[in-house]
Formats: sequence, structure tokens, C-alpha cells
Amino acid sequence: MVQKVLIIEDEEKLAKFISLELEHEGYYVASRNNGRLGLEAALEEDWDVILLDLMLPGLNGLDVARRLRQAKQTPIIMMTARDSVLDRVSGLDHGADDYIVKPFAIEELLARLRSVLRRIDIETEKSGINRTSVTYRDLVIEKENRVLRRNNVIIELTKREYELILMLMENINTVLSREDLLRKVWGQEGNSETNVVDVYVRYLRNKIDIPGEDSYIQTVRGTGYVMRQ
Ligand code: CA
Repeated sequence: MVQKVLIIEDEEKLAKFISLELEHEGYYVASRNNGRLGLEAALEEDWDVILLDLMLPGLNGLDVARRLRQAKQTPIIMMTARDSVLDRVSGLDHGADDYIVKPFAIEELLARLRSVLRRIDIETEKSGINRTSVTYRDLVIEKENRVLRRNNVIIELTKREYELILMLMENINTVLSREDLLRKVWGQEGNSETNVVDVYVRYLRNKIDIPGEDSYIQTVRGTGYVMRQ
């Protein structure tokens, strides 16, 4: 997929130069030569990265970043001729993700660009782990609403049953011992009351299993339970 870069820079020659280099690298590029137009373009369209000059007519770079952040999390690399610690901190405070000091070598800019894009990729992947729903076969847990559904029908669960099925479905193919489950779901240490886990697994099976078919929750003899893919 072609990545889209918006350049907000009033020095036309520099903007043109960066734009040609980025196009040569395969990016789709657009540029705006003042802060106000830049902010408009940043809000109207989705960009993968914005290269933002600090000193701009119309609206300065810090204001563009600050206003953009009220609406969007588009990564911003701030470009500035000034190199004081204060400027760096202030730029990052206003929502810039990285900073590059003019004059810079184009290779340095390309490297920063790749690094910001990579970081965003990793964050997107990570947030996938914390996704708001968890699916196993025809069961779906909506974490925000704390409900379990099958074919859009809610299966009524007690708080403990919900915590237990969530733990199992978030650890597909991992055998969880009774002690693990007792600790994670009931918050209890030790192994004196592990039969409570068996009782709750039985409650859950009664609610989710389909009569005549294998149980969704498998017993691993002598160890614990697992839901296998
Ligand atoms: Ca400028």
C-alpha cells in the first residue's frame, strides 16, 4: 500500500525537493505552503505521516500540531531551523512524534520517516492484542460490554463465569492449571479450593456447549483446562 505524506512547508524549494525525493521512494506526496491550509488538508484527508515546518505563515507548526491532535493521531515529524532544547520539548509537547533540524540530509529524513511508520505499525499490532472483542468458534466476547454472544444472542453469565471464559478465550491453546485460574479469576493464592474451578467450568459448559457435541472447554487430566483452536 502506498503511504501518504503531507508536507506543510512554506519554503517552496525545500518542499519541492523533499516531495520529489519522497515520490522517488514510492510515497504519495502532497504539500501545502502555509499552516492554515496545511491543517485543513491534515484534517480532511488521512495521511500516514505529516512533515510539519515550525515557522509557517498563517498558523505556526506548534499550533497546527496542537489543533490536529484534538481530532487525530496522525504521526507528525516537525522540521525546524532552530535547535534549542526548548523547541524540541515544546514540539513534542504539542504532539510531534519526532523532530528533524534543518538543514538535514534527505537520508536522515527518510530514516526518521521509516522509523515513525514502523513505530506506528508496531503500536497497531500491539493494540490488536488488546482488541475489544475476542472470538472463538461461534462465541464472541465483547469486552467493553462484558458480554458473551453466540450468533448475536447474549449468553447470560455471572461475573465469575464471564471472567473465566474470558481468561480461557484470551489464552487459546494454552493449558491453564486450576491454580492459574484460581489466582487469575478468583484472585486467590494456594491450591486448597481448586475444585471451585471445576464447579464453574461445569456451569460454563452447561451454558455454552451444544448437546451431543464436544465441549468447548477441554479438560487436561491432572492439570487444568484449555480451549483449543
Ligand atoms: Ca518556514
